[in-house]
Amino acid sequence: MSEADRLYNFSAGPAVLPLPVLKKAQEEFLCLPGAGASVLEISHRTKPFEAIIEGAEANVRKLLNVPNEYRVLFLQGGALLQFAMIPMNLLQGTELASNRSAADYIVSGSWTKKAASEAKMVGNVHTVWDGKDGGYKRKPKPEEIRWNADAAYSYICSNETIEGVQYQEFPSTPTPLVCDASSDIFSRPVDISQFGLLYACAQKNVGPAGVTLVIIHEDLLERSPANLPSLLNYKKLAEAKSMLNTPPSFAVYMVKLVTDWLLHDIGGLEKMGAINKEKAALLYDAIDNSGGFYKGHADREYRSMMNVPFRLPSEELDKKFQDDAKLAGLMTLGGHRSVGGLRASIYNAMPREGVVALRDFMVDFMKKNG
Ligand SMILES: *Cc1c(COP(=O)(O)O)cnc(C)c1O
Repeated sequence: MSEADRLYNFSAGPAVLPLPVLKKAQEEFLCLPGAGASVLEISHRTKPFEAIIEGAEANVRKLLNVPNEYRVLFLQGGALLQFAMIPMNLLQGTELASNRSAADYIVSGSWTKKAASEAKMVGNVHTVWDGKDGGYKRKPKPEEIRWNADAAYSYICSNETIEGVQYQEFPSTPTPLVCDASSDIFSRPVDISQFGLLYACAQKNVGPAGVTLVIIHEDLLERSPANLPSLLNYKKLAEAKSMLNTPPSFAVYMVKLVTDWLLHDIGGLEKMGAINKEKAALLYDAIDNSGGFYKGHADREYRSMMNVPFRLPSEELDKKFQDDAKLAGLMTLGGHRSVGGLRASIYNAMPREGVVALRDFMVDFMKKNG
């Protein structure tokens, strides 16, 4: 199989990777330059691998302008392990236990709902806003939220991957803001200094499954309880530069290549953001101009630039759309198993031509079936 066999892949995750990145990995697969072996075959305590993990960190810092007082970690366990590690480190923290006994969560969709329920297994959670009654179509407005000034932290998700609901501006909070940016990190510039901790599993917009990027303010490391097992302990992980044990070395290598691509081929996050805005507008315009044939999920102001969920007039048509799209070279357009419908994930690596092809398919499908 070759490049010509590849379809446009709208998977929500693991998701499309930039073609130049896949080619570079293929080129270097048998032998990493200077290493005498594949990146899969060398110790993480070697110069070539140290150059990769340090290079990946330098790229992340450059892309997001990460201030010096933040640490960049490459961890395992996906976003779901962060759902647990965040309260284990920041809520159970010994120094805080007495006076900051709960954390504030905004529940704006499936992933924050899950994050809050995992955190409840560790400590007390205050849900300061829940979008359930409105069907998770939007984020809260600042005046709707009453943050607790004595919370251990305030938790949000920048982009709800399943519902396709994204913040345009982040709330300002009296306590450190923790953000799950799994599905929109690197999709646009963000000011890291607004956050105490921002994290993302890699398999949407950063690389392959197996590595999770955590950017944490060094002050928060002081909260990690001394009796927390090492591999769950942010402070110990930061001290060991993410190498308490063998890191997911191939995944970190891929993150290095993806961030090289963002910096050098795309030209940074301003440019990436402009491209993403234009790509998303192609699909939302098709939805808005369909006379109700296609119905989007999110309220207009909160529409995601990364995940575009929509429905057709019937479930039969949803199914036919997916089947016909596949034949037209457009794959993985089904919605999440929990909500159904359709969803086009158009992460950084989805080329504009892929989005144009989907838009043209939508217009054509409506003509034939509308
Ligand atoms: C995919 C996703 C998750 C879950 O990621 P895992 O790495 O599978 O645990 C959590 N949050 C968001 C926003 C996601 O998009």
